[in-house]
Amino acid sequence: MIKKTILILFFISGIQLIFSPQANTWGFFAHKEINRIAVFTLPSELTGFYKSNIEFITEHAVDPDKRRYAVKDEAARHFIDLDRYGKSPLDSLPKKWEDAVKKYSEDSLKAHGIVPWHIDVMVKRLTAAFRAEDYDRILQLSADLGHYIGDAHVPLHTTKNYNGQLTNQKGIHGFWESRLPELFNDNYDFFVGKAKYIEDPLAEAWQAVAESFAAKDSVLLFEAELNAKYPQDRKYAFENRGASLMKVYSAEYSDEYHKMLDGMVERRMRKAIVTVGSMWFTAWVNAGQPDLDKYKDRKISKETEAELADEDKHYKEGKLNGRSCD
Ligand SMILES: [Zn+2]
Repeated sequence: MIKKTILILFFISGIQLIFSPQANTWGFFAHKEINRIAVFTLPSELTGFYKSNIEFITEHAVDPDKRRYAVKDEAARHFIDLDRYGKSPLDSLPKKWEDAVKKYSEDSLKAHGIVPWHIDVMVKRLTAAFRAEDYDRILQLSADLGHYIGDAHVPLHTTKNYNGQLTNQKGIHGFWESRLPELFNDNYDFFVGKAKYIEDPLAEAWQAVAESFAAKDSVLLFEAELNAKYPQDRKYAFENRGASLMKVYSAEYSDEYHKMLDGMVERRMRKAIVTVGSMWFTAWVNAGQPDLDKYKDRKISKETEAELADEDKHYKEGKLNGRSCD
């Protein structure tokens, strides 16, 4: 009997390991959706170029997460633990990087995440790529920028309790950003309107994390409330994913939680989509609106392809640098 129990426990813990590593940052599914749909927010001068490259922009929406396996500094670019900066972090933390470094030091800023500043850096890099009409860079940076903007819209990317690990809610990160969009995405309305020119990309990035931060208490509290009243044996289920069996939050439990959130996941995804389109458009305008139609039939270079394949190899070998949300 004891032997059997141990065997079962071993089996269950083996299944839980399969929770990783895809449980990070909007899940791969939502990141791809955000980048793909953002293409349709663009004005006519940009739609030809982006539509003919929509597959690349979609598939590479998750490169920054994969890069965390190869690049030591990558992890910090995906989040900002605002609650490390006192009771009113949005007042105490300077918005400009140089001012924030003066107040808190570069090391401590990097330890607590830098996503809003990194978005601003990426917009500038994309602007330079447009100016240089560097085809490969435009595509790579567009895909990457979409990823970081997506992350900034996730409430649990703005708190040190990013996976509910401080409140006995471990797993909530992937629950909110992967499981819920995968289950309910088909019912979301993604007619988000047209991309707009953004005067101040850094301020826009701060706005995104401020909204996420304002929502993170509900994300945690609602799940805690639901968990307290829900029959524990119905909280999880096992689902087949390809060859593996995966432990997931059950469909009914997910449905209850999703109702309590009252459209929050959809709202954050919608906001992320229009912001991604707007930031691409802004970089292009700031670069002097180069004509991109002539590149419509071009393909990505062999060198860039090799570089991306190398990143993918590191990812598949699976040595993560920094934070994981599994
Ligand atoms: Zn990420």
